[in-house]
Amino acid sequence: MSIPLLDLKAQYLTIKAEINQAVSRVLDSCRFILGPEMKALEEEIALYCGTNEAVAVGNGTDALILTLKALGIGPGDEVITTPFTFFASAETIAQVGATPVFADIDPVTLNLDLDKLDAKITLRTRAIIPVHIFGQMVDVERIMEIASRHDLKVIEDAAQAIGAEYKGKKAGSLGHAGTFSFFPTKNLGAYGDGGMIVTNDEHLAAELRMLRFHGCRIKYYHEKAGYNSRLDEIQAAILRVKFRYLDQWNEARREKAGLYDRLLQSLPLTLPGQDPYAKQIYHLYVLRSKKRDNIIKYLSAAGVATGIYYPLPLHLQRAFRDLGYKEGDLPVAEQACKEALAIPCYPELTKVQQKEIAALLIEFLS
Ligand SMILES: *Cc1c(COP(=O)(O)O)cnc(C)c1O
Repeated sequence: MSIPLLDLKAQYLTIKAEINQAVSRVLDSCRFILGPEMKALEEEIALYCGTNEAVAVGNGTDALILTLKALGIGPGDEVITTPFTFFASAETIAQVGATPVFADIDPVTLNLDLDKLDAKITLRTRAIIPVHIFGQMVDVERIMEIASRHDLKVIEDAAQAIGAEYKGKKAGSLGHAGTFSFFPTKNLGAYGDGGMIVTNDEHLAAELRMLRFHGCRIKYYHEKAGYNSRLDEIQAAILRVKFRYLDQWNEARREKAGLYDRLLQSLPLTLPGQDPYAKQIYHLYVLRSKKRDNIIKYLSAAGVATGIYYPLPLHLQRAFRDLGYKEGDLPVAEQACKEALAIPCYPELTKVQQKEIAALLIEFLS
């Protein structure tokens, strides 16, 4: 048996003709940067998310950096985020010269624990970056309430959550801005790098368009030192094909997750925790167990790939040593890093494969 954590080849084979045609269309046009494919994708995603604006950029990390910059966040400012996420969520805060401040997570959803936010807000706090981890949205409505009381901006890091919902509203559409990543392994993945920002703030969108293009609105007239960060036409054309399948793929992931929930419910494992208002899209299906490392070995010996998301919380990363956090500061996130493991959960995974994986877990744990 050999079951990968994600099977991009299997997915490509289901859409190969359309993808190849889309790529040829761009090659024939010889229009590669800031062209009609990118513009069309921006319009499609804004419509999908229910926002006025969408701005495509080079990757999900730049989406955060440009948004922080456009909001005027920099040295002397603090931005609160979660320690249980991919590094970029906090790296970008540091990259614009501001200070990342970490608040602990909820043990069930693994998203920011909103009861812990108030204690982290100081006079220097300018923004909150909630992350919808593994495709389950955090309660952004409540974060917006907290933010408006303290006059803070909210940037949803929705890199893992395109298409996820909270009370029927799409990830990215509730904050002042929301960012997506089109890294190949994300639920909507390019065949290279890509990212996007959605917002209802037209002024912010204009600022982002200026920043992604060397700080100019009119070519060769530079208002600011900006960036070179655009979604290229080939990636945009590929993403437009894949975007048409996004809802179907997310639904397939939800079905797979439902089957795992049923097959594994009686085992001594913590299954992915649910927020009843959040429609999860299972970017990853993450279990928790004290025997995590042995489970990984057992599955690996049987040919089943797993992943650890995440092995080390961000407040304990070497890169943030100077922030002065120590072990024990954010115990829920630290514990999650010791127990979490992702098992294969992607649209092309078959029921037979899922049952094989479940049988291995049952064999090992009972
Ligand atoms: C993938 C990811 C990013 C970064 O996106 P890139 O496109 O790889 O730059 C940021 N935040 C989270 C939560 C991610 O999962």
